Amino acid sequence: MKNTVKQIVEKYGNDKTRLMDILIDTQETFGFIGQEAVELLAHQLGMSQVDVNQTISFYHFFSTKPRGEYAIYLNDSAVAHMFGRQAVKEAFEKEVGIKFGEVTADGKIGLFNTACIGMNDQEPAAIINNKVFTRLTPYRVREIIKHIREGRKVEGLINESFGDGKNQLPSLRAMVSSNIRRKGMILSDDYVYGSVTRDILPKMSPEAVIAEIKHSHIRGRGGAGFPTGLKWEFCRRAKGEKHFVLCNADEGEPGTFKDRVILTEKPELVFEGMTIAGYAIGSDEGVLYLRYEYRYMKEYLEQVLAKMRAENQLGKNIGGIEGFDFDIRIQFGAGAYVCGEESALIESLEGKRGEPRDKPPFPVEKGYLNQPTIINNVETFATAVRIVQNGGEWFTQFGTEDSTGTKILSISGDCMFPGVYEVNWGFNVADMLNMVGAYDVQGVQVGGPSGTLIGPDEFHRTLGYSDLSTGGSMIIFGRQRNLLKDVVLNFMEFFIEESCGSCSTCRNMTQVMTNKLKKILNGKGVAKDLDDLKQWGKVLQASRCGLGQTAGNPIISSLKNFAPLYDALIQKDKDFDEGFDLVASVQNSCKYVGRVPNFNHH
Ligand code: SF4
Repeated sequence: MKNTVKQIVEKYGNDKTRLMDILIDTQETFGFIGQEAVELLAHQLGMSQVDVNQTISFYHFFSTKPRGEYAIYLNDSAVAHMFGRQAVKEAFEKEVGIKFGEVTADGKIGLFNTACIGMNDQEPAAIINNKVFTRLTPYRVREIIKHIREGRKVEGLINESFGDGKNQLPSLRAMVSSNIRRKGMILSDDYVYGSVTRDILPKMSPEAVIAEIKHSHIRGRGGAGFPTGLKWEFCRRAKGEKHFVLCNADEGEPGTFKDRVILTEKPELVFEGMTIAGYAIGSDEGVLYLRYEYRYMKEYLEQVLAKMRAENQLGKNIGGIEGFDFDIRIQFGAGAYVCGEESALIESLEGKRGEPRDKPPFPVEKGYLNQPTIINNVETFATAVRIVQNGGEWFTQFGTEDSTGTKILSISGDCMFPGVYEVNWGFNVADMLNMVGAYDVQGVQVGGPSGTLIGPDEFHRTLGYSDLSTGGSMIIFGRQRNLLKDVVLNFMEFFIEESCGSCSTCRNMTQVMTNKLKKILNGKGVAKDLDDLKQWGKVLQASRCGLGQTAGNPIISSLKNFAPLYDALIQKDKDFDEGFDLVASVQNSCKYVGRVPNFNHH
């Protein structure tokens, strides 16, 4: 073990800021990161064992105990449950002979639950040793387990041709369908990769590139909606030894999967967008921060980067521009929703726990390694290429005045055609439902669990930053669904699991509100409980980062838009809060927080 750990650490230049890569390699080599490995890593990197353990304990996919030769992670999203997860879960337990959370005595198979893996359009889905299995049924589960027991590789179950070293794309598509249903400027096939860097960039100054991006009025596609041109301008002006371009591909919002599709079908567009950004802000280094759930794309994306280097779309003097050097590396996360928050992503990229930083300073001044950094979403970088190609003015003809351009939506749930749709901003919800074949709809979750749950009264509303803002996740629920029990409760449990534990509000109130919801669902609720939930939702909004600030939204927006569902469960003859002990609930929440808080830090 000693030599192997030493080799892994040396592969990353003995650099402790590369701890995430080092831990991922260690986990994948030994199947877990045990105490002996922790001691060796700490010694080799000149760190304390406590610091190494702090990072390990933060991420779902790291484990200090063996997880089995075949670690099976079954997606736990609300949509997975809607499409038969329970039967699939029971089939796994029956075939393997253990419960979820356990590993077989022979160390062969482990069963684990995991939060949304970005496959909502093809549920139920699971990850087994970094390969994805979609549309699972009990029959398929039997096949998989038989295959594993016979000692054969899981790849063989996906596609016989898997592993073709020359072009990984067919294998990727065989494993996971892209389900592109509607194309616009980003997903269309009429752009020849590299033409902007080759033909247009050499004729533009960095300032002119930023001017076009500003003129387009594009706002960040990740959800926050900050003007992209301004971000690039601030970063270009910021002083530092080095500037960085980071692409946030951590799409962890349950229900979103459009970055998965863009990176499968149009990776060159994303990398070209990062390159253009590098030119604009004066950077020679970009990093794609990709969620671990998409580890199955690694070889394919590395192939694409290698091809771009061979074609001088990455590397030195790109596009013949003397002195313009830029390259991109891929950094994987290890399972933490909060790392979608830009400062948490940077912490993770530096090898630490993904805990959001206090702001200011903002990343454009002090970001990755304390240097000026821009962080944009996958879709934003892809869009930037089309803007520079056609001009900012051209771009403003799409969408609305305050939301220009197109938006790529991940649409799932109760509809005939789940998948990815590119529409102009300003599209209305009713048209969207007709487009995807969704009938008799009870509600739509706009923007994932941190967004809003709307009912038919609001289907006239439009998608845009001034009305229904969304990072792209749209989940449709038919009338047959129990919205409070099957959806709202699932979303709240997701936030409990994903809270980084730094703020007491986020750590405790998510749990306390969920306990109150359970009380109501058990038929023990009274009118005062509804008032309490509304008040506590406001307390939660005072949390440090977007996760905590929006974690109460599933309850708050359903209370607002689906009040009769709550009223029907409330005991009308009682008006006092019986059967709910707030103090005990808070104490319990301290015990059952999703992550162990970093007490060294606070
Ligand atoms: Fe962590 Fe939640 Fe606080 Fe964000 S709001 S810093 S996730 S505890």
